[in-house]
Amino acid sequence: MTDYEEVIGLEVHAQLLTKSKLFCGCSTNFGAPPNTNTCAVCLGLPGSLPVLNEHAVTMAVRAALSLGCTIHRRSIFARKNYFYPDLPKGYQISQYEEPFSTDGSLEIELDGSSRRVGIVRVHMEEDAGKNVHGVGGDSLVDLNRAGVPLIEIVGAPDLRSSAEAAAYLRALRDILVFIGVNDGNLEEGSFRCDANVSLRPRGQVEFGTRCELKNINSFRFVQRAIDAEIARQTAVLDAGGKISQETRSFDPETGLTKTLRSKEEAHDYRYFPEPDLPPLGLDDAFVAKQKGSLGELPRAMQRRYVESLKLPPAAAVTLTQHPGYARFFEAAVEGFAEPVKVANFFVNEVLRGAKVHGLDATFSVSPAQVAALLALVEHGDISGKQAKEVYAAIEGTDRAPAAVVEERGLRVVSDAGAIQAACERVIDAHPEQVKSIRAGKKGVLGFLVGQVMKETKGAANPKLVSELLEKLTQS
Ligand SMILES: [Zn+2]
Repeated sequence: MTDYEEVIGLEVHAQLLTKSKLFCGCSTNFGAPPNTNTCAVCLGLPGSLPVLNEHAVTMAVRAALSLGCTIHRRSIFARKNYFYPDLPKGYQISQYEEPFSTDGSLEIELDGSSRRVGIVRVHMEEDAGKNVHGVGGDSLVDLNRAGVPLIEIVGAPDLRSSAEAAAYLRALRDILVFIGVNDGNLEEGSFRCDANVSLRPRGQVEFGTRCELKNINSFRFVQRAIDAEIARQTAVLDAGGKISQETRSFDPETGLTKTLRSKEEAHDYRYFPEPDLPPLGLDDAFVAKQKGSLGELPRAMQRRYVESLKLPPAAAVTLTQHPGYARFFEAAVEGFAEPVKVANFFVNEVLRGAKVHGLDATFSVSPAQVAALLALVEHGDISGKQAKEVYAAIEGTDRAPAAVVEERGLRVVSDAGAIQAACERVIDAHPEQVKSIRAGKKGVLGFLVGQVMKETKGAANPKLVSELLEKLTQS
């Protein structure tokens, strides 16, 4: 058996979060009735001319910059010719020989170690429409998606396992969502992945023949699809066979990949420069402005949270999934300077009430309310359990946590006299347990603490109760 090395490169199509399409003013709204978001341009009617969407260009440039790509001051749109019912013009406007950006990289993390994976290029293109099969036995075409702006991010064949591929895909999605250019929604197809997979005997320099896995629409399937394809190629090679270059699809039902078509070569598409669009010029000032306004990216932010704020890595990852999460967290820390406690509370409570749309995130409470609530717990005014009750009461309101505490009489009883009385009552009521404790069964103390907490309706300070009980049972 030969020892093979896996060589994987991903091509990702990400829909830019613009309101209108790449070359016309039609809405990009997902889920509109079929063929309602269309016009002469995106229907490819004769005589119509494309006009480039400036906002899409801005988003594409920001995406490429966030991946460390070089932005080319001049790039060319090209026609990619092929025939398919969902492509009314008979060609797709894309970029080919002169894309607007090349040579970036993405940092991925796997099993606690991180490394950089190359990005060959990022280019702009328009999406095709959608064929809908099996409607009353017919196949129909919905052109709402035709002309929607995409960027294609072509990764280098630097990935060496399906786990690395999944990590790459997540890192890429996180960064695009974070900078607000993509919604990361695999199910609605606004973030789609094709994987090029090949094997070579370990130590060999040249690549083996690759197969392309098309449209992997879930993170769950990425790893499974690649593993299935690797198993297939290994079996073919071990049997002395040859891999033929082709496009394949993964069937989650059978767990196998199957041939879709033999792979097209670039010349099959008869690319040529789009005559209806001038070359795209991006000046230095524009690129510098976009670069300057990108701000801190998620990986840098995670590092800062872990290293300077001492957050657990998992919390740092969650907080940097959306810029709105990070903003909320940092604002709450301004009011209550215990980052770890704020982060835990955010992940466990606040996140449940968060709603995200593009770069906006809304929450059911404000950072100031969370800071005030955590301060009450910190000062021992209320217990952690009571904090949850107060939180439920302030959600969706602008009430101050302290007002709820007053209104409901929730203050923790730290009054030693009252607690002592409760402890004495519990000791009198449980002579057997007290005997066990005196005989050395310290574990039983917990039972008595629970009884006192019950007696005080959870309002006693548990640490104080435990200390008092220990003292009282020994006397
Ligand atoms: Zn249109």
